[in-house]
Amino acid sequence: MLKRAKWLAKEGVLRIKYMTNKDCIFCKIVSGEIKSNIIYKDDSTIAFPDINPIAATHVLIVPKKHIESVLTIGETEGSDLAAMFNAASEISKEKGVDSFRLSFNAGKFQHVPHLHMHFLAGSKIEWSRL
Ligand code: AMP
Ligand code: ZN
Repeated sequence: MLKRAKWLAKEGVLRIKYMTNKDCIFCKIVSGEIKSNIIYKDDSTIAFPDINPIAATHVLIVPKKHIESVLTIGETEGSDLAAMFNAASEISKEKGVDSFRLSFNAGKFQHVPHLHMHFLAGSKIEWSRL
């Protein structure tokens, strides 16, 4: 219960930040303006641990290009998506996990308006928090 209350408090602060942050928080991580522990990168993708995880392993895989959501993916962005799935495969090998879930949120379930894939593994996944 205390764990859930702590998670909710952190999530509340994060969501206020998204609403007040004029520039995109994930673009700032891509550019290095906001420091993050980048665990994977290639020409078009980066990945870093989620700051408020819902599973033992919770990584965000993000295209370097600012694509707002799954609802705004353009015809020329197929290679960005392929690179995101390739990153998931590389991360699973790196972490030594052969069972994992990949998830995208959209609409009211999406809070950061820069496309990102959640890579979840290693424990019970608390979906209701995502
Ligand atoms: P979503 O609800 O699908 O938009 O998920 C956004 C995710 O981004 C949440 O799981 C947050 O915990 C995570 N998040 C927000 N800011 C950061 C940050 N600076 N570094 C890492 N993860 C973040
Ligand atoms: Zn962005």
